[in-house]
Amino acid sequence: MATLFISDLHLDALRPEPLTRFQALLAGPARQAEALYILGDLFETWIGDDDDRPPHPEVLTALADLCATGTPVYVMRGNRDFLMGARFEAETGCRLLPDPTVVDLYGEPTLLMHGDTLCTQDLEYQTFRRQVRDPRWQSGFLARPLTERAALAQKAREGSRMATQGKAEAIMDVTAEAVVETMQAHGVRQLIHGHTHRPAIHRLVLQSGEARRIVLGDWYQTDSVLVLDERGPTLTRVADVVGTRPTIAAPRARPGSAQITRS
Ligand code: MN
Repeated sequence: MATLFISDLHLDALRPEPLTRFQALLAGPARQAEALYILGDLFETWIGDDDDRPPHPEVLTALADLCATGTPVYVMRGNRDFLMGARFEAETGCRLLPDPTVVDLYGEPTLLMHGDTLCTQDLEYQTFRRQVRDPRWQSGFLARPLTERAALAQKAREGSRMATQGKAEAIMDVTAEAVVETMQAHGVRQLIHGHTHRPAIHRLVLQSGEARRIVLGDWYQTDSVLVLDERGPTLTRVADVVGTRPTIAAPRARPGSAQITRS
């Protein structure tokens, strides 16, 4: 049996197609999987566990239905949905994972992260992250009415979009030093993360030997899914796992399976 990993779906009401693929994955292959891991940014925005704006109820239903079949679903918070909490867990049956978490996968200790903490060159973002992960900031924010939180989140997103446009590509990627330090600190030779939207399987060498960093892709373009079993990792697309390709208006390049690079 395989274990499935996805991240950066950024589900929202404006783009129904990723939601359809998510529902197909959860109603199909995920039921046969050993577990499903969602490593952050499942939602484009999640401004509290009372955030019932579309398509959130449908997403929660799909998760609850899958959990009810017995497939464990582990969810890590991303930078878009860091306010997921106990009520989300109770309503879906998913278990929230701290970032980072080490799990044993087919005998290999594996570090799971969303990935944003590895982008250490983006000082502006790291300052923002510290602010919004502060429990006092969070309780203050959550005490505001939903509509007010939605307006604030919208404003923050516009600000982030403008800041992102002015940043060099390299600043928004992980730094090699942070990857090596973090993996060595946790004593692992396998890391799986998302966030950067640059799907790949990178080989690297640590003091402990050969290692790999698997980066999940986003669902804006690629509906990326990692299938991991005792034979190793396959970075592929949901359409290929579900067995039916969705009808998409514009033809897209076929991004094969695992792209192996060295870094
Ligand atoms: Mn992210």
